[in-house]
Amino acid sequence: MIKLERFPKPLFLTGDKVKELTEEYTRSGFSVWNIEHIKEPLLRSSFGKCSYCECDLTEESKYMEVEHFEDKKHNPDKVVTWENLLPACKKCNGSKGTHDVISEPILNPYVNDPREHLAIRFYRMRGLTQLGKNSIDVVGLNNQERLVLKRFEIGSQIAESIEMAWERYSTYKSNDRTQSKNRLISLVEGILAECQPKAIYAATTSTVVLSDRSFIGLIAALKNDDLWNDDLETLYESGKELVLEFA
Ligand SMILES: [Zn+2]
Repeated sequence: MIKLERFPKPLFLTGDKVKELTEEYTRSGFSVWNIEHIKEPLLRSSFGKCSYCECDLTEESKYMEVEHFEDKKHNPDKVVTWENLLPACKKCNGSKGTHDVISEPILNPYVNDPREHLAIRFYRMRGLTQLGKNSIDVVGLNNQERLVLKRFEIGSQIAESIEMAWERYSTYKSNDRTQSKNRLISLVEGILAECQPKAIYAATTSTVVLSDRSFIGLIAALKNDDLWNDDLETLYESGKELVLEFA
């Protein structure tokens, strides 16, 4: 989970429209929020990802569900209240179900910075606060099958990429060829690209990459050899914003 910025309320959701849709929901129970005017800006604001688990929702938004932070059973008057809507995957949305966030609050990534509430340990999320702990249990952030194993896979791929980057570094040091240098830089750029807000599972990837001693050593070596550039620095700085406590 990463901190997200809420987009301005769509013009479509005027006071009258909200009233009309809310009444329609109360009358018919119909999913009045399931419209592109609502789904599209929600999806863009989360970079096409589930706002809780960061899985990919971009395939024509067909995997996306409009999540009601204050659930619709306890808060039927907020079914199309813009500030109450989040883009989520079916699993997170289903796991949260009718959980009442008023009596037992969880993290809202558009309001809270997850870095103050969550840490990663052995590819499992760990709650640093009650809010973090509640979120893990309510949304299922440590679901073994779909999230913990996924994070492990990511960690393993990253370890491999970092090893490969060191190999390319050695090759460049031994032959001093432009091609070798470019192959090295583009791989490091690729690793850092996975640590950006728009990348899937960015909280996990940025934490694993930017806390890794071997990667930190590689950055130092690149700087020492004048290979570190502004683009890499920009990617590094923005990735660092997402890093969770690694404990
Ligand atoms: Zn999810």
